[in-house]
Amino acid sequence: MPPVIALPDRAALLLDLDGTLIEFAPTPDAVIIPPDLLVSLQRLRQRLNNAVAVVTGRPIAQVDALLGDAPYAVAGEHGTAIRHHPQAAICPVALPALPKDWAGRAQAAAAAHPGALYEPKAHGFVLHFRRAPEAGPALQAAATEIVAAHPDFMLMPANMAWEVKPRAADKGEAVRALMAQPPFAGRVPVYIGDDVTDEDGIRAAQALGGLGLRMQDAFGSPAAVRAWLAANG
Ligand SMILES: [Mg+2]
Repeated sequence: MPPVIALPDRAALLLDLDGTLIEFAPTPDAVIIPPDLLVSLQRLRQRLNNAVAVVTGRPIAQVDALLGDAPYAVAGEHGTAIRHHPQAAICPVALPALPKDWAGRAQAAAAAHPGALYEPKAHGFVLHFRRAPEAGPALQAAATEIVAAHPDFMLMPANMAWEVKPRAADKGEAVRALMAQPPFAGRVPVYIGDDVTDEDGIRAAQALGGLGLRMQDAFGSPAAVRAWLAANG
């Protein structure tokens, strides 16, 4: 059993979504949101003066569709876009435009492997191979070749996927931007994530005097994270 984590006084919660609050599904749009998760997030908002954010690789519109207004703030696409409160406009970070031929090339790379999935994003793309595990190395090679010519973009390993994203944005930037504004400012950040992209968020929370927790080490499963949220809400 992992040690029990005490929620600090005056905490602010910064939570990754996929693989942290919810289990992975065969495709990104097939995830299931347990109703008790939404209840826990709402209750934690009340307890923490609304200092509850989701920090994810997904676009903010997808988070809205999945979670509604349960989180108070949302950082989407790995810090590329931040909405500081439910009625706020989405603040885009200034980012390089995606080269025009990349979508077609990435789509073609995925199409060569039955089960592989191309997911477009506003400032990048993802090649998923959860349903075609043997295609992982070939898709990595294709994505590497695509990004090689453009130093403003980078290739990131994700969960059964390869993601191309702008170098400027990461979840650490998102944590710093959220913690700089009410209702997060002055609180103790508690970041929970499961993936390589969460390491920037974990480090940022620790650097701000808070807790940066890897889901696998601190909780062991998304269900255990949800149980912890429920116990603290
Ligand atoms: Mg995750």
